[in-house]
Amino acid sequence: MKKLLINASRSYFVTIGEDFSVLSGAEKLVKGEKIAVITDDNVSFLYGGTLDRFFPNKKIFDYTIKAGENSKSPENYLAILDFLAENGFCRDDAVLAFGGGVVGDLAAFCASTYMRGITLISVPTTILAAVDSSVGGKTAINLSVGKNLCGTFYQPHGVFICTKFFSTLSEREIACGLGEIIKYSFLSDVLDLESVKNGVTEDVVYKCVEIKARIVERDERESGERKLLNLGHTVGHAIEKKSGFSISHGECVVKGLYAILKVSQKFYGFDQKTFERGKKRIETFSHDPDYPFSADELIDIIRSDKKGTAEYIDVVLLDKDLSPKIERLSFEKLRELLK
Ligand code: NAD
Repeated sequence: MKKLLINASRSYFVTIGEDFSVLSGAEKLVKGEKIAVITDDNVSFLYGGTLDRFFPNKKIFDYTIKAGENSKSPENYLAILDFLAENGFCRDDAVLAFGGGVVGDLAAFCASTYMRGITLISVPTTILAAVDSSVGGKTAINLSVGKNLCGTFYQPHGVFICTKFFSTLSEREIACGLGEIIKYSFLSDVLDLESVKNGVTEDVVYKCVEIKARIVERDERESGERKLLNLGHTVGHAIEKKSGFSISHGECVVKGLYAILKVSQKFYGFDQKTFERGKKRIETFSHDPDYPFSADELIDIIRSDKKGTAEYIDVVLLDKDLSPKIERLSFEKLRELLK
């Protein structure tokens, strides 16, 4: 079992282990007597009640949403707030997010706003949620106009990651998580992708969380360095949207990374050997990096996603050492480089 301290606007521990005993220390984080366990119907079917024995002195209130991105909605947000209020939750009580990034973002947004913030515990069950969304304090719901348009920065009080949950993930969800892990390998040398071929172990999760934690500690509100975590995402999101969400998020991150590698080669003028080294890393887990969309199609989406009137965008590129670097490019320049 490993423990990592994150020193953000709130300091908290991320406990990572291979079995459910990681949750042993969770109960003491809750001063009150009630915990609302927010989950989705897949996780509830597979693991319903699994957490209860770690909270012998608390009253558990289960709330289950339908699995899927559509559940990160204002309707579910308000329904959960009503659920908390109707059951007399007060500020010492807790919300526990038990699921993937959808449950995590929604439950955390509820916890951050109910009574101006109550205790939040996160138990991520997907690889993506474990290595990415459960740490860092971004909460969100979707609006009809776009994804993640409403949210807060709210650090959890504790995160408990058990790799055992990953055993039931579909291939698609595993590929999704691996896409984010490839991204981390470009952000720091501590993560050796070869070791990930043996599985997403406690050690792999620890290293990813540590990379993200150190960046978040220095720039919690994304005014600068935290933008590095968007590596591969700007173009990746555009590919995801253009595909009508038929290509999974993780696959799109990988395709986005490949697009950025090509853009970076043109921008910095590095040699073909460096390009091939980057491509090989992107293909480590047999993801297909190609995508069938033109630069014009992608730029239109990137531009509309940004909504503002700015003529430029901050993009994370890879320099000649394949290290990430934030560059401010005009949309026209990015269009030209994407061709
Ligand atoms: P998800 O929560 O939809 O989970 C994917 C699927 O896996 C769902 O069907 C879920 O029911 C199922 N599932 C969850 N755990 C399982 C398990 N152990 N076994 C079997 N099935 C399981 O999606 P996700 O990929 O975890 O997260 C994506 C979301 O995360 C998006 O909404 C994205 O915007 C958000 N996100 C947030 C941040 C952040 O910093 N807050 C970062 C990245 C992504």
